[in-house]
Amino acid sequence: MGRIRGLTCRECKRAYPLTPTHVCEFCFGPLEVEYDYERIRAGTSRERVAAGPLSLWRYRDLLPVERGEDDSWRVGFTPLQRADNLGRALGLRELYVKNDSVNPTFSFKDRVVAVAIAKAKEFGFDTIACASTGNLAAAVAAAGAKAGLRTFVFVPYDIEQSKIVNAAVYGAQIVAVKGTYDELNRLCSEIADRQRWAFFNINLRPYYSEGSKSLAFEVAEQLGWRLPDHVVVPIASGSLLTKIAKGFRELEKVGLVEPKPVRISGAQPAGCAPVAQAFAAGTLNVRPVRHPNTIAKSLAIGNPADGYYVLQVVKQTGGAIAAVEEEEIVAGMRLLAQSEGIFTETAGGVTVATLKRLAERGVVRPDELTVAYVTGNGLKTQEALYGHLSAPLSVEPTVESFEEAIANHAPAYA
Ligand SMILES: *Cc1c(COP(=O)(O)O)cnc(C)c1O
Ligand SMILES: [Zn+2]
Repeated sequence: MGRIRGLTCRECKRAYPLTPTHVCEFCFGPLEVEYDYERIRAGTSRERVAAGPLSLWRYRDLLPVERGEDDSWRVGFTPLQRADNLGRALGLRELYVKNDSVNPTFSFKDRVVAVAIAKAKEFGFDTIACASTGNLAAAVAAAGAKAGLRTFVFVPYDIEQSKIVNAAVYGAQIVAVKGTYDELNRLCSEIADRQRWAFFNINLRPYYSEGSKSLAFEVAEQLGWRLPDHVVVPIASGSLLTKIAKGFRELEKVGLVEPKPVRISGAQPAGCAPVAQAFAAGTLNVRPVRHPNTIAKSLAIGNPADGYYVLQVVKQTGGAIAAVEEEEIVAGMRLLAQSEGIFTETAGGVTVATLKRLAERGVVRPDELTVAYVTGNGLKTQEALYGHLSAPLSVEPTVESFEEAIANHAPAYA
């Protein structure tokens, strides 16, 4: 047997072979990829990682793929930016932003898709598909175009126009479903039972979700093979947060970093905050939100598959989860842009607003080495800022008109 043992049920621990399947037949628990960490530990090293490609494939030893992957399409190894300006604004002395808005389709979803499409090819699928709140649609459509696979993406009918354009341009078949994300996700599960298609976040979910671990690996390597003290992660289905936690633990297990606790906090928009509500109520039972209503549409999953596991991780690591209001999200987008020069989408606004709240409440402490995960690009959700930014100075093409305008209307520069 190689370094990948198979799939295991997260609940009853039953073992399954490496096939396109995602739930336990006995207890309906989620399946997860299981590795032989002893074996990986013997074969991996910081030098080996450093010699790898400048993409998430440098961490191949801890990803569930067999073959070397096409690396011409740089997914991952995005900047970890020291954020002193934002830190000063929030009273945090050692703050970093992991800027994952600069992947090929401008969100972190390229990471999960890179792993899922490698697996879909290994399994011999000719059609790939996904249920998406927007960003996954673009990532799957682009990867499908590049791989020459038939591609279907299912999205809620009311997502941002720009997100439809961002997926449709790659030539995928977009299916707009008149319902919520949870309804279309159920529809996709039914289709997955009838067609032999690789639904990345359904039957390929155990492999797909492993791609998120690379966001933990990169941060540790970019900090000089150290773990941070505290990270803030946005929550939709909750998979990203739980996999970042798994990634940090794996680095310890295979000897790439010294063991150290990492506090993990979560971010949700108040208009769809089932996990934050459960956290506030002190329960591990997530009550689904039937009608999500928020500008952070990429986080609008009312019935998050991994909500229960998120609550466990956050509790165990001493983190917290906040739910932020719509105005705070917009303020968070503006604050990040104006302090660090990073234009993030609404989900990033949720993360920054949550970081601000948690810093104010003393949950994120001033001396902690903190990393905020910014997961999507602002060009995707420009509508959210309409009416929130100052209008341009309107002038005649004369020096008099310009000087009059700045004297009267641009006090900051007068
Ligand atoms: C999908 C997504 C997330 C969170 O993903 P989950 O793994 O479902 O929790 C966060 N940010 C952005 C921008 C996303 O598109
Ligand atoms: Zn089980």
